[in-house]
Amino acid sequence: MIKLTEVCKTYHSGKLHVPVLQSINFHVNQGEYVAIMGPSGSGKSTLMNIIGCLDRPTSGSYQINGKEVSQMEDLELARVRNRMIGFIFQQFQLLPRLSAQKNVELPLVYAGISKSKRSIQAVEALRKVGLADRKSHRPKELSGGQQQRVAIARALVNDPHVLLADEPTGALDTKSGQVILELFDELHQEGRTVVMITHDPEVAKRAQRQIIIRDGEIIEDSMPSHGIGRRSL
Ligand code: ATP
Ligand code: MG
Repeated sequence: MIKLTEVCKTYHSGKLHVPVLQSINFHVNQGEYVAIMGPSGSGKSTLMNIIGCLDRPTSGSYQINGKEVSQMEDLELARVRNRMIGFIFQQFQLLPRLSAQKNVELPLVYAGISKSKRSIQAVEALRKVGLADRKSHRPKELSGGQQQRVAIARALVNDPHVLLADEPTGALDTKSGQVILELFDELHQEGRTVVMITHDPEVAKRAQRQIIIRDGEIIEDSMPSHGIGRRSL
């Protein structure tokens, strides 16, 4: 479903070239739950941006469902992103002036879904995360954990192929974080594909598979048959 082959990413700022990812190779099958770990600055968010079609590799191939995305025009990249990816961020990134329901409806607005259908689908997604009774609340009227559950409902609402989460429990206390992790367990059991970035080994243990990156390279993959295999440090 997701396949990265020899993916490299270099940022250019002025004369400076910053190589961030080097020869990344792995694939993720449908229904897998993968944790990507690594120290700060190792390239995790850069990798997530590429997997999430927010950015393209500098070189190498990235395929999602057999579609090559590395060479796509901006418009097509945005379409693939809207259809296939559900994003969950550390800081929730909800729009403060919109109700929970309107936040959840946003991906459906971009997809051109009619107002009545949007409403039904958004309430259903909020029900899924246990927040149907909070649909009229604005983000500031919700706890951090509840805001993250709204963000998960927003990520789920257009039935994406992959859920991508960057430190989804990073801004939460342990108890609220547990609720979010239980929700991810449930989504995985339902057959969803989840790729989660974390630097917390306890969080990463919840996933079926752990990939560790350091200095832009995969140094360990707990399911080597799906990637490049284990390498010594
Ligand atoms: P953290 O755990 O702190 O979130 P990370 O593993 O997600 O770190 P990235 O955000 O992917 O790390 O950054 C990897 C490297 O790329 C860092 O050295 C960073 O300074 C650099 N970098 C990231 N984005 C850019 C950019 N837009 N332009 C130039 N350099 C960048
Ligand atoms: Mg990051």
